[in-house]
Amino acid sequence: MAAGDASKTWFDEVITELKKKWKSSMDWEQLIALGKQLTALRDKIREDRKILGPRMKCHSCGGHHHMNPTAVTVRAIIFALHTHKLISADKLAELEKSWKSYQRKHKLTGAGDPKPVKTA
Ligand SMILES: [Zn+2]
Repeated sequence: MAAGDASKTWFDEVITELKKKWKSSMDWEQLIALGKQLTALRDKIREDRKILGPRMKCHSCGGHHHMNPTAVTVRAIIFALHTHKLISADKLAELEKSWKSYQRKHKLTGAGDPKPVKTA
């Protein structure tokens, strides 16, 4: 396992998929759906290559084990688009701001899922 793979999301295949699927006309719902596809692809690559996540404290049992990285967030996608020169720095700033307000308005997690309702 190559150094730095433990928390890696942006494998070459994931970047290729992003470049292939992303369109500037995508709305937030489509981008959230794309994030889920990229997360699934990343997890499959990690599984195929037997890449273990970093050891972290587990919220379920309190022990320490290898945990998988969290789902690819919309913000991570926006940054990746800029890193790979698909969008300009201005567009990055614009999208980031726009996503933040959309996320707040619809009460979404970073990956675009509805936030769990607090029962307490
Ligand atoms: Zn556990």
